[in-house]
Amino acid sequence: MEDCLFCKIVKGEVPSTKVYEDDEILAFKDVNPMAPVHILVVPKKHYNDITEITEENADIIKKIILAINKIAKEQGIADKGYRIINNCKEEAGQTVKHLHFHLLGGKKLGDKMC
Ligand code: 5GP
Ligand code: ZN
Repeated sequence: MEDCLFCKIVKGEVPSTKVYEDDEILAFKDVNPMAPVHILVVPKKHYNDITEITEENADIIKKIILAINKIAKEQGIADKGYRIINNCKEEAGQTVKHLHFHLLGGKKLGDKMC
């Protein structure tokens, strides 16, 4: 997607602090961290949001969760705990329309769900 910020980060056209990469996934630090560890995990392939995940392509979600668990270990937050957030579309506050998961940890997180 030409005008997509995270596609540009994937292509290296916009700089980011990478923490994990494989053939299909990139993870990088959020530019405006809400916790000591705040990492964005994205599929390299563009999906607008999680509603585009289907029986045919859902394997990417499994791979993302496995990558998140690996990153959490590397970041030293696996034992104490962490939160994975996906904002889907406007009312959930999705601002970047490229599917992404927030990995948050490194402190006691708030207990508010909404
Ligand atoms: P959303 O609100 O769509 O769930 O999350 C988008 C996230 O992208 C926000 O937490 C925001 O701080 C982050 N973000 C926005 N622009 C950039 C950028 O240029 N680089 C990085 N690393 N993160 C960004
Ligand atoms: Zn994109």
